[in-house]
Amino acid sequence: MDISAAELLQAWEDGASLHPVRKALLLLNTAWPEIALTTFGETSIGERDAYLLTLRQALFGPTFTGVGSCPACGEPIELSFRVEDIRALPPPHESDALEIALDSCRVWFRLPNSLDLLAVASHRSVDDARRALLLRCVLDVESEEGRGAHELPEPVERALVEQMERADPQANVQLALDCPGCGHHWLQSFDVFPYLWQEIDDWAMRTLNEVHLLASAYGWSERAILDMTARRRGLYREMVI
Ligand SMILES: [Zn+2]
Repeated sequence: MDISAAELLQAWEDGASLHPVRKALLLLNTAWPEIALTTFGETSIGERDAYLLTLRQALFGPTFTGVGSCPACGEPIELSFRVEDIRALPPPHESDALEIALDSCRVWFRLPNSLDLLAVASHRSVDDARRALLLRCVLDVESEEGRGAHELPEPVERALVEQMERADPQANVQLALDCPGCGHHWLQSFDVFPYLWQEIDDWAMRTLNEVHLLASAYGWSERAILDMTARRRGLYREMVI
């Protein structure tokens, strides 16, 4: 994995108006061009997020920080955790069909991927999107009543979703938090992509500002400035301001 400042800036610009799932795929394709274009779309969400964690560590280091608030007493909470704290074991390869058997129903299914998320993104209600996602992921159904994938009993659907979450833990990162004020304990989900994209957004604005300062002061081209190391750009910037 190797991504230059110029490539990251280009991905940031190209991705600006895209759906978040497409943004994430664009970033991964930029960072790992040697991996076929379709691959990232077809890896499970957790596997995709594992790549995003690797990219985030390479770009901005291993530590995540943030602020939140206690849901019980409202006290502000400072969060700090590392990439290795939220790394899960890799899920089975996406071609491995998962299976559940419940209520005289046996269902074979696969884990959802980014292409599935894009396919259901236009559904207005969360329930419709969830149902469409399940339909895409069910590979086969065997039931005494001859049920199809679109008429699974509710407990079977629920069990299927739970099994999907268990099989792809990286897609469902939960931070265990404690409030120092009132002792309340809760789980908060953490999605790496929005966090990473915000960091890239901030980085891009800082970098454009550096390009502007150095180009104005020295007449260097944007490309020449972006090709410098971040350290060298930063040192010149200090001399200019
Ligand atoms: Zn509290």
